Amino acid sequence: MQASGAVRIGIPPIVESADPTDAADLACEVRGVTKSFGAVAAVADVDVDVERGSLTCLIGPNGAGKSTLLGCISGFLRVDTGSVLVAGHDVTRWTAHRRAEAGLATVFQTTRPLDQLDVLENAMVGCHAWTRAGFVEAMFRAPWQRREERQIEEHGYHCLELVGLADRANVPAGSLPLGQLRLLAVARALAQRPKVLLLDEPAAGLRSGEKTRLAETLLGLKGRGLTQILVEHDMGFVGSLAERVVVLDRGRVIADGTPAEVREDTRVVEAYLGSATL
Ligand code: ADP
Ligand code: MG
Repeated sequence: MQASGAVRIGIPPIVESADPTDAADLACEVRGVTKSFGAVAAVADVDVDVERGSLTCLIGPNGAGKSTLLGCISGFLRVDTGSVLVAGHDVTRWTAHRRAEAGLATVFQTTRPLDQLDVLENAMVGCHAWTRAGFVEAMFRAPWQRREERQIEEHGYHCLELVGLADRANVPAGSLPLGQLRLLAVARALAQRPKVLLLDEPAAGLRSGEKTRLAETLLGLKGRGLTQILVEHDMGFVGSLAERVVVLDRGRVIADGTPAEVREDTRVVEAYLGSATL
């Protein structure tokens, strides 16, 4: 609530630690993570290392445990055993909120925009991961807060540019077609200034042209050095994107390699048997 002192709106450090966290080669480490729902071992003793700046795909048939694993990384789910590290720091006991502040952002499987807001305002919502202003400040609108509002708007607009939606900034979010809604969800997550972006089946239900545009956007973000973990069901989409694919089946990692390598893996073929998406 204090309205004095220097305004600091920088990228928050990934963790509040004296360590130079950017020196870590691994953006994210999943170590021996297990998560059960009743008798169902949704994720069972999974190890995954994600290199900084990489785009890692997590694939597997329905029910394989992909969303559960993503939830364990983002902190929306608590692991039963094992640990999750971000930039070398153990965040296993951190809340999802604290992990978001530290640089983990999620694009959820089903995201709805706030229909009453326009596209830019929807992107700006993501900025609240790093802004100072709370409800009381918003009421009194101190000068630093007006400055912050300008920065939020600029940053939100920049995030729309990154996903190619800047020309849609002022239209109602509810009027966007599905492909653009997904891009908006990515923009909103980017507005959090993430170090690691987690995406849960962002291409689901999209038409082929929309998938291509999404893939190009994600590759563009990779080009800017953003680490991404992409959960995907469709191997075709994955093949156009990933340098590395981790395959889950019944909660376990059954393959880990390039798209070409995992496609030829007999266990992967068996897991996908009967599925048209391999
Ligand atoms: P995927 O994303 O690969 O389709 P999920 O991680 O959603 O798979 O689910 C893995 C397994 O865990 C499934 O058997 C699913 O039914 C179960 N599961 C997931 N979430 C819950 C939950 N909240 N409560 C009970 N079971 C769940
Ligand atoms: Mg899922």
